[in-house]
Amino acid sequence: MREAESDVVVVGAGNAGLCAAITAREAGARVEILEKAPFEERGGNSAFTGGLFRFAFDSFEQMKVLLPNYSPAEMDAVEVPPYNARAFADDCEEMTEGLADPTLVDILVKQSFPTMTWLQQHGVQWMLATGRQAFKSGNKFHFFGNLILEANGGGRGLVDALFRTAEKSGVEILYESKATNLKLDDQARVIGLEIQDSSGRRTIRCRSVVLASGGFQANAEMRCRYLGKDWELAKVRGTRFNTGEGIRMALNIGAQSFGHYSSCHAVAWDVQAPPMGDLAVGDGYQKHSYPLGIIVNREGKRFVDEGADFRNYTYAKYGREILKQPARLAFQIFDNKVIRMLRDEYRIRQVTKARANTIEQLADELTIDPQGLRQTIEEYNASVQDGDFNPSVLDGKRTRGITPPKSNWALRIDEPPFEGYAVTCGLTFTFGGLRVDKNAQVLDTEDHPIPGLYAAGELLGGLFYYNYAGGSGLMAGSVFGRIAGASAASRFSNLA
Ligand SMILES: Cc1cc2nc3c(=O)[nH]c(=O)nc-3n(C[C@H](O)[C@H](O)[C@H](O)COP(=O)(O)OP(=O)(O)OC[C@H]3O[C@@H](n4cnc5c(N)ncnc54)[C@H](O)[C@@H]3O)c2cc1C
Repeated sequence: MREAESDVVVVGAGNAGLCAAITAREAGARVEILEKAPFEERGGNSAFTGGLFRFAFDSFEQMKVLLPNYSPAEMDAVEVPPYNARAFADDCEEMTEGLADPTLVDILVKQSFPTMTWLQQHGVQWMLATGRQAFKSGNKFHFFGNLILEANGGGRGLVDALFRTAEKSGVEILYESKATNLKLDDQARVIGLEIQDSSGRRTIRCRSVVLASGGFQANAEMRCRYLGKDWELAKVRGTRFNTGEGIRMALNIGAQSFGHYSSCHAVAWDVQAPPMGDLAVGDGYQKHSYPLGIIVNREGKRFVDEGADFRNYTYAKYGREILKQPARLAFQIFDNKVIRMLRDEYRIRQVTKARANTIEQLADELTIDPQGLRQTIEEYNASVQDGDFNPSVLDGKRTRGITPPKSNWALRIDEPPFEGYAVTCGLTFTFGGLRVDKNAQVLDTEDHPIPGLYAAGELLGGLFYYNYAGGSGLMAGSVFGRIAGASAASRFSNLA
């Protein structure tokens, strides 16, 4: 093993890894990032995102510091309900059936706003997410699901800003360099890594390692092993490089597995999307306007409550329901009343859709059983209750007497033309990972911190179970990335 060239080695150059690297560097450590992808595909899953962040704030007034380039008139054109720390923590608890680790949730929630400010200070520009997260009513945009800000340029803009900051501060980034194993000394301290790059296999030495190499969603064998039957058939929404090595390396040296290994974040994703994400399309294959219509399977049957809650609180679990349908297929059906309200992703070139003037014609074009679809729509239309439709609030305009119900935004599907979109299950990231303490230090199976090993991002277990509140992944990556970077660097300065 050669002498330590770095104090801190970060594995993975996504949002979490970059936040860790910048923080460690600013604390005075020599920092190297190992990134498995080539330069052109850098940025991990984070580069595929819409760049939306969930954070706690007491009032819109408080948030204005994050929007220095907005004029008072632009600020007046939006209605932003407060989302305080309690509300964010409650969402984490409710989404996860009370299983989320309270210590991790507390850190995530409390550090969310300061981390938004930190990201801004490190080159990320924030924008109001009026395009996807608000509906216009009168002359104001009303935000509905507590996701208010997105990074300028989306996920690509986010990581580009962080790469610029990291490079400027002197962080070394090695591309096409895959970490394969952790090295321990005879006191079970992490002292380096085995890596593989174009020159072959070698070992590098360092004083601490931050694992930020994502989940195992791009690894068919691990998907099948942990998530179960048919998950090897799901499409992967993001990077092809998150194949679970970080988790495996840590488990191999005695780290504690933690979190919901048999669950994941998965959404409705265009049926003709490629097997892995395509950076040129990003998150455009997702289809998230289903609360405005209904979802049926190939037999024409509904199988979820499309209006159970705002999209941000249901989309991450409905992909799993789609995977269970015949041929892993589902169809989102809308009528003319709502077509103009569909999100921008419904208007991309790479979309699998049909448009028709009758339900039978639509069914025929989409290969749905026409009788099944007609019957479902007749029963659904007959069950729709009166009430005012308002997509900015849980309007309670619901169905009665059908299963599953549609609990909000139930409008009849009766005005041609009709549109249908064919979707399948798109897997975003896996929930199982490693256990860390409040310093983001990885714990072993006896709950002892493993000297020199830290973790952040998708591979940190314990935050997400069953479901997920939109915008939490990037926020958690940044919050725990910063903590991991600071802890890894402080270990170095303590040793120095
Ligand atoms: C299409 C899409 C849209 C999304 N939209 C949002 C959103 O708007 N808001 C939100 O909060 N979340 C969103 N998410 C989820 C979000 O992407 C993740 O929660 C977050 O980006 C994870 O960050 P990370 O740094 O942990 O992982 P990543 O960004 O995936 O980074 C991990 C990096 O590790 C590298 N790597 C893997 N293995 C190795 C190895 N052995 N050696 C070296 N390097 C390795 C990978 O190449 C990758 O670059 C979205 C995800 C997708 C796919």
